Amino acid sequence: MARIVQKFGGTSVGSVERIKAVAQKVKATVDAGHEVAVVVSAMSGTTNQLVSWAKECGTFHDAREYDAVVASGEQVTVGLLAIALQDIGVDARSWLGWQIPIHTDDAHGSARIESIDTTILSERLSMGQVAVVAGFQGIGPDNRITTLGRGGSDTSAVALAAALQADRCDIFTDVDGVYTCDPRMVPKATKLDNITFEEMLEMASGGAKVLQTRSVAMAMRHGVKLQVLSSFEDSPGTMVIEEKSDMEKNLVSGIAFSLDEAKVTLVAIEDSPGIAAKIFGDLADAHINVDMIVQTAASEPGKTDITFSVPETDLERTRQVLEEVRKVITCADMITSSHVCKISVVGVAMRSQPGIAKTMFETLAEKGINIEVISTSEIKISVLIASEYKELAVRSLHTAFHLDAS
Ligand code: ASP
Ligand code: MG
Repeated sequence: MARIVQKFGGTSVGSVERIKAVAQKVKATVDAGHEVAVVVSAMSGTTNQLVSWAKECGTFHDAREYDAVVASGEQVTVGLLAIALQDIGVDARSWLGWQIPIHTDDAHGSARIESIDTTILSERLSMGQVAVVAGFQGIGPDNRITTLGRGGSDTSAVALAAALQADRCDIFTDVDGVYTCDPRMVPKATKLDNITFEEMLEMASGGAKVLQTRSVAMAMRHGVKLQVLSSFEDSPGTMVIEEKSDMEKNLVSGIAFSLDEAKVTLVAIEDSPGIAAKIFGDLADAHINVDMIVQTAASEPGKTDITFSVPETDLERTRQVLEEVRKVITCADMITSSHVCKISVVGVAMRSQPGIAKTMFETLAEKGINIEVISTSEIKISVLIASEYKELAVRSLHTAFHLDAS
């Protein structure tokens, strides 16, 4: 007997028919003798609709009221799934974030989970009752409903699995696992049986949409056994695991891409201590996440150019912050573009094998693709390129690193 957390995403609970199918899957796990806590998302499309209603009612809406609105989608699905389970003879109860409670900080709209009280939940599970828990939501220190940011129910599931000391956390979704690249972009992409936590983290933060980045970081921190699998097929998915020293690894495990990037260049700024600290300090204070940064020598002596990337959604605010910065430092020009995309190749084997950068840059050069910004970590190389080349770049790299399905 094991204790298992199962998470079902929006498509998996997208209609009454599908909710009934999920109930059958849960029942099968219960019948096998396991204790089950289920975390669900809102029906697919619901959260988008709720977000746009909130925006229509007020552009600069209060984040606490935004949370009150957007958390409601999950209230519907937990109730419906509990009913569907009871209807087929499974003892089940729905739980909203505040009822457990799942305590978060007060960052409404992108709150972080601080603690989960599992006393009652644990008791119910050991009595054989299925707990159906609303993903994406918690309760803040101000006693109001919070949400964890888009895609947050993955994080809810992992946090619950950690708190309940579950044996496994299964993320059921509309794809049957983690692929070497998004199969919609690269038809020859193949499913991975295993991926390490670190690789998954780089893939998620590089733009792969399978799991919310925070959920992977949390699973890694707490050693939660994580599996991504299809809710529509009965096949094994991808296990997210610790790195083992004897792992047979491709040079590159996967390629991620993100289209939601923007590039900013500050031209001919003064080259002296404290300038970068001022620029990036002010951006950080405005909660803008800067990703890739390069500094190059400008044509004038004593001057330098800095280019960096930010999420496309933050470009307007970035410009505002930098207009202010330009009042106190010399800077000849600011050039921005949102027609860029980020491509990342990821693999733990990079640590021990040289030549990945060479292959990556040569492949792009052969296709005549210009690299605008580069950044690296121990297990990842990312480049920023013009967005019109995204397919060509991703597919060529997929082939160059021998990831294509035969
Ligand atoms: N329903 C929320 C969203 O669409 C949370 C989730 O699905 O993970 O972002
Ligand atoms: Mg999701």
